[in-house]
Amino acid sequence: MEADFVNHVIDVAQRVVASGAISANGHGNVSLRVPGSDEMYITGGSSLRNHPASAVARVGLDGVLREGELPPIQGAVVAMHTAMYADNLDVGCVLHTHSPYATAFAVARRPIGCWVEALAMFGLPTGVPVAAYGPRGSDQAVANIRAAITPGVPAVLLANHGVLVFHRTPDLAILVGGIVEEAAQAAINSAGIGGAIEVPEELRAAALQRAMSFDTRGTVRV
Ligand SMILES: [Zn+2]
Repeated sequence: MEADFVNHVIDVAQRVVASGAISANGHGNVSLRVPGSDEMYITGGSSLRNHPASAVARVGLDGVLREGELPPIQGAVVAMHTAMYADNLDVGCVLHTHSPYATAFAVARRPIGCWVEALAMFGLPTGVPVAAYGPRGSDQAVANIRAAITPGVPAVLLANHGVLVFHRTPDLAILVGGIVEEAAQAAINSAGIGGAIEVPEELRAAALQRAMSFDTRGTVRV
């Protein structure tokens, strides 16, 4: 196994934990596509907290283990990762967690609306859809994920399970995982004061454009 890729997967797992968008037990998995190849590196441990490098596995995008080992509970979710790489050639990182507030929406089988501006700014202007339930990583679950995904939107809720984020880079995947969790938390917190209201549809593109225009300008200094 390439030490660089193993270390990168571990680093991403630690950053997911540090982001706070994770359940208390740290359950989840992270994978990285090896650029220009037909394989990925994936966390084989049951928790992303203090995930050991020795538990990272190298797996073909056909789902076949090539190096390392995969315990049953992790082996079951491999197909969820490989499907995202197969369907989106620009996806470089897949991230799955049970981040608590987003998972609340997943178990309620309710989509997340465009309640926080950041969703519009970072490629989720229509919110986060829900994939119907199927046993984790099964053909049924993967088919449900594919059916639920909104083209271009890099996240989906997994009914009765958790969240799946897939993006070009680990940085973007971690960012989106955090925004999805933040939106879900804000919606639940606002439930007692009238509930969340979506950003008006016609202003969602404006939120993105404003973010982009500031991005183009870069950091300003006096
Ligand atoms: Zn899970």
